[in-house]
Amino acid sequence: MSTLSSAIALLLEKAVAGERLTRDEALPLLQSHDLVALGQVADSITQRLHPEPYRTYNIDRNINYTNACAAVCDFCAFYRPVGHNDVYVLEPEELLKKIQETVDLGGDQILMQGGMHPKLPLEWYEETLQTIKSHFPQVNVHAFSPPELFHFSKISKLPLETVLMRLMDAGLGSLPGGGGEILVDRVRKLITRGKALTDDWLNVNRVWHNLGGKSTATMMFGHVETLEERIEHLDRLRELQDETGGFTAFICWTMQPPEEPPWFGNRRDGVDMSQIAPAGAFEYLKTQAVARLYLDNIPNIQSSWVTQGEKTGQLALKFGANDMGSLMIEENVVAEAGTVYHLSLQAIRRCIAELGSIPRQRNVFYEYIDEEPTESELTALLSQQSDSTAIPELAVLK
Ligand code: SF4
Repeated sequence: MSTLSSAIALLLEKAVAGERLTRDEALPLLQSHDLVALGQVADSITQRLHPEPYRTYNIDRNINYTNACAAVCDFCAFYRPVGHNDVYVLEPEELLKKIQETVDLGGDQILMQGGMHPKLPLEWYEETLQTIKSHFPQVNVHAFSPPELFHFSKISKLPLETVLMRLMDAGLGSLPGGGGEILVDRVRKLITRGKALTDDWLNVNRVWHNLGGKSTATMMFGHVETLEERIEHLDRLRELQDETGGFTAFICWTMQPPEEPPWFGNRRDGVDMSQIAPAGAFEYLKTQAVARLYLDNIPNIQSSWVTQGEKTGQLALKFGANDMGSLMIEENVVAEAGTVYHLSLQAIRRCIAELGSIPRQRNVFYEYIDEEPTESELTALLSQQSDSTAIPELAVLK
């Protein structure tokens, strides 16, 4: 760190010592350009939090139960307005078939999210969860982002707590952190319409955590937000985690611009995000490293190889992440935006092994659910070729 400015070096030393950074201290780190120093510090914090020889991944399937959405998000090429010819709602049989395929591939979870359907009643979500759990009691249903849950509360005219308790009783296992984008209302109002604002997004998590539930926290950056607003986002997450302790992990990724503005009809009132150049690996790794320094109370950080690709996704494990995230059998929202990478299970495991760690499959609570690989299995993994451009065996499920 000898070439760093003394101010930055002091901040990094403070973080290494386990002292909490303030917003004013985090900002110059995000403004700085010494990626290597930030990565080294983020990695030393990861090693302190996770001294175990393992780095993890999980196997789940992303199921988008409907693309009908009453909201408009300027980055989302996935949704369709109600009445559009392409609108779908998955039938229970299709849902169960997808889950069976996931289980057959060793998956223990589904990530189920959708648009904010203007008509489906709360009973539809309860029945869907009950159907899933009656067929697959062992599968964790990681479902419904905070904006969806906020929407369910509005549609049903029931308090959030009632909605969450009913869904928990029906089989909802944990909440994904989708729809977080940037937790600053100036940004949210610019790029989304009809979607939960910051306090509502946080409050869904708060109520869920107070019921004993766990969830993940996310951040989609690299669009209209300022660096100060990225820090504010991290700060709001840290503040809520101090209060509830319910976030298991943080995942950040760079906005993937849609090919064209996803507006239908005469709507032209948003930001044309197709014109925003996507942030690159430098910005991704730097932001994740600063997040590792700042979020001292969130235990896990997941690499986002789905948007960054294999090489950067692997490198992220040296910039604060301790987990490769999910094998992610389907990822429609990112795929519709045109940028999605596929990795096979073997590639994920090899990415971990190449860094000198032992790959382990985990569940949503970060408990290992596989056997530790043998020496010969690790040697076989390391002899594989990179397959980031190949279509893996699991892609046939799409
Ligand atoms: S991101 Fe979600 S809430 Fe926004 S338009 Fe797409 S489906 Fe709807």
